Amino acid sequence: MKDRSSQDASRAPRTDWHSLPTEEVARRLDTGPSGLSENEARARLQRYGANRLAPPKTRSPLMRLLAQFHNILLYVMLASSVITALLEHWVDAAVLLAAAVINAVIGFIQEGKAEAALDAIRGMLSTQATVIRDGSRRQIDAAELVPGDRVLLASGDRVPADLRLLTVRELRVEEAALTGESLPVEKHIEAVAASAPLGDRYDMAYSGTLVVYGQATGLVVGTGSDTELGQINRLLTDIRQLATPLLRQVDRFGRVLAFVILAVCALTFALGTLWRGHGAEDMFLMVVALAAAAIPEGLPAIMTVTLALGVQRMAQRNAIIRRLPAVETLGSVTVICSDKTGTLTRNEMTVQRVVCAAHRFEVGGVGYAPVGDCTLDGRIIDPDHYPSLALAIRIGVLCNDARLHERDGHWQVDGDPTEGALLVLGGKVGFTQHIADAAWPRLDSIPFESQHRFMASQHRDSDGACWLFVKGAPERLMEMCDHQLGDSGAQPLDADYWRRMATDIAARGLRLLALACKRAEPASGHLQASDMHGGFGLVALVGIIDPPREEAIAAVNECHRAGIQVKMITGDHAETARAIGAQLDIGHGSAAITGAEVALMEDAELRRVVRDVDVFARASPEHKLRLVEALQASGEVVAMTGDGVNDAPALKRADVGVAMGLKGTEAAKEAAAMVLTDDNFATIAAAVREGRAVYDNLKKFVLFSLPTNGGEALVVIAAILFELALPMTPAQVLWVNLVTSSTLGLALAFEPAERGIMTRPPRPPSEPLLSGFFAWRVVMVSLLMMIGALGVFLWEMQRSGDVQTARTLAVNAVVMAEIFYLVSSRSIFASVLNRRGLTANPYVLLSIAACLPLQLAFTHAPAMQALFGSVDLTLLQWLQALAAGLLVLLVAELEKLVIRRTSLGRRLGQRPNAADR
Ligand code: ADP
Ligand code: MG
Repeated sequence: MKDRSSQDASRAPRTDWHSLPTEEVARRLDTGPSGLSENEARARLQRYGANRLAPPKTRSPLMRLLAQFHNILLYVMLASSVITALLEHWVDAAVLLAAAVINAVIGFIQEGKAEAALDAIRGMLSTQATVIRDGSRRQIDAAELVPGDRVLLASGDRVPADLRLLTVRELRVEEAALTGESLPVEKHIEAVAASAPLGDRYDMAYSGTLVVYGQATGLVVGTGSDTELGQINRLLTDIRQLATPLLRQVDRFGRVLAFVILAVCALTFALGTLWRGHGAEDMFLMVVALAAAAIPEGLPAIMTVTLALGVQRMAQRNAIIRRLPAVETLGSVTVICSDKTGTLTRNEMTVQRVVCAAHRFEVGGVGYAPVGDCTLDGRIIDPDHYPSLALAIRIGVLCNDARLHERDGHWQVDGDPTEGALLVLGGKVGFTQHIADAAWPRLDSIPFESQHRFMASQHRDSDGACWLFVKGAPERLMEMCDHQLGDSGAQPLDADYWRRMATDIAARGLRLLALACKRAEPASGHLQASDMHGGFGLVALVGIIDPPREEAIAAVNECHRAGIQVKMITGDHAETARAIGAQLDIGHGSAAITGAEVALMEDAELRRVVRDVDVFARASPEHKLRLVEALQASGEVVAMTGDGVNDAPALKRADVGVAMGLKGTEAAKEAAAMVLTDDNFATIAAAVREGRAVYDNLKKFVLFSLPTNGGEALVVIAAILFELALPMTPAQVLWVNLVTSSTLGLALAFEPAERGIMTRPPRPPSEPLLSGFFAWRVVMVSLLMMIGALGVFLWEMQRSGDVQTARTLAVNAVVMAEIFYLVSSRSIFASVLNRRGLTANPYVLLSIAACLPLQLAFTHAPAMQALFGSVDLTLLQWLQALAAGLLVLLVAELEKLVIRRTSLGRRLGQRPNAADR
């Protein structure tokens, strides 16, 4: 497959497809009612290329590398390097230059890695298209569409290519992507003038626009860069950036910190030269080193990598992040509002009961295999002896858009599982779709929409009479029915009986459908909503079981332990919702509130109600939006699931909008911040867990990186202030910074989630990253590092007075302290002094393993000794450096112990986990 480039698209003059009648379009594209054959489609794919837009131009690697230098710190380093060179301090100049280059390269690699991770995920959300090929309907990747393909559109779809419409049913398309006009346009199939501007071509549906209502079929007339969208060469909605509120917070903090550090440096320089009488040149070098040591230059790059890795881990668990800030927000979610069907339940529906006017039938069998019997009071019966049962089954099979297949011995449903269950019921009594379609050809239909809660179809029987069949929520159908159909024909409607039966079925947690019919022609020739207004005869109620997912039960439990409320929002009957909710431990079996009740409530009342009620039934998308708003108004951070077009506003409004990858529409996916590729509630819980882990890792990295920079800086400042011989030369300070700051901390990005992570309450969304506790920890560890390094330095000076040995010792002490502190940083509160704590993150061990040889070379390699003025250390001296490191580890662990054991942690606003104690 080749992607077409934009040049060869402009090669041929473009046909004005919109001005041609549909037959002419079909003729020119050489296609018929049964669509293209697979062979022909393959040949055309070769000829026309994949239906994909040319990827946007990315910056060249060189530009990306150069952009890494655009950063205050690197400017400072480069400028200092030049000045140092002018002062003829070649080693310092070279080390500074090397540090700047290495920093830029590391930033470059990390950014590339982060982008690659996000790119890989972008590719996982490919758009699907429904086409007719070889006479049957199939789902294909939209990239495989070719001119001449016959495409079906339904509400919520993104139009996958430029289409000349063949049939429309109330098709409304939002064309903002192309025309900027956000009001949906009503489409028809009559050709328009060749000169009509894009927005007036009512017989076309253009690639990238969004179907907001209705259905249609159309012929593909342009793909890839041949589409109107391809012509303007604008990519859609991929507005993902490597920025989140936290990253921005850190970025701002980093910049302020850089200026503070530069000020401190200037002050140190002034004090050192004027007060302590050091030479200006020496002091300048020292101050440059100090700045390099203190500024946490790796911070933004590593934070980005941490986020990207989190996004990657979520993708492995079937949660695709579409907007990066969601990664952080997930960690602070306090309420998850979830759909029921398919998310909390398995969406494998089986009809268990059929209640007719006179009898209540039970249906045996499990899953989609059409084997099982109908029984009445425990006796197997023949449905042919019960005309109302036979009629009910017929309605169920005919008023149906799903397909049932057997593939390798497995029965599968294409389409809505609720409808699949009715096909299976038909199969159990021998009334298959083939038989039904032959005897009762369908003339027209109104598809199911969650807002209307019914589906209707129009058929002709063998005598040529017209029938309307309808199935849907019992409350809806009762409004349409004025009589009931029993075994002996029409009877007056016993509304009470049906209501009792409905409650009885729903109380068992079964999903309810009512079936009705009337013999009539549609008033206007084709079926419309106005034909549904009355005169139907109610035939039966059907109870369908849809058991909860095992893993959803566990996940709801996990959420509860994690202090997250789970609310269920469903279009189902209140009793069904309550019963299923009870099985999932949502709502504790207390009453459900219906969408109608929500609609009647004032905002203030709703805010009160949403706090206590966990189950919302018969709810439509607009109720979802109100629920999100009410929850947010009471300070909750809300994750909300959705799948339909009409869910988009609620998904956008929610703090984390979650769309279903399998049954969700493109519209929902685009509005969402996260897409579940398996439609499973448990995946949301897993993503929350991962989100918490990512946030933890970001905090851990900041907690690691600030004190290590601070420690190095304090050693230098203390030496200047207390008029000691400098414990590290500028080149040495730069060396420490070079080998440790970027290598060690990165390991924390790979830190797995802590064990008790889902037993903590959610992080308050307003919690600042740099809390009082953080400041304390940073200062404490910085001081510890300084004490360790200055300690060994002074000890050695006292003992031998050899400044070179003392400095080599001090450098190694700082590096050891950083290594040990890295281990301690694996957990903010939990002890790491156990097997898991010491070894569970192999990247920590790896980065330490990378650091040690460098340190050995620094100390013992003659070339390095010549460069840095280091000298060989004895084993005993190595042990002293090690001891300085151990000091940091032990005191840091002691501090954690104190926090865990006392209420101090809670007062500091950080609640350690129960599991860590
Ligand atoms: P949910 O997805 O939350 O279960 P839906 O909006 O899919 O809610 O369904 C709401 C109600 O609409 C169901 O309880 C059922 O009575 C009815 N219903 C569901 N699917 C169909 C369908 N394909 N045809 C007719 N009615 C349906
Ligand atoms: Mg549904």
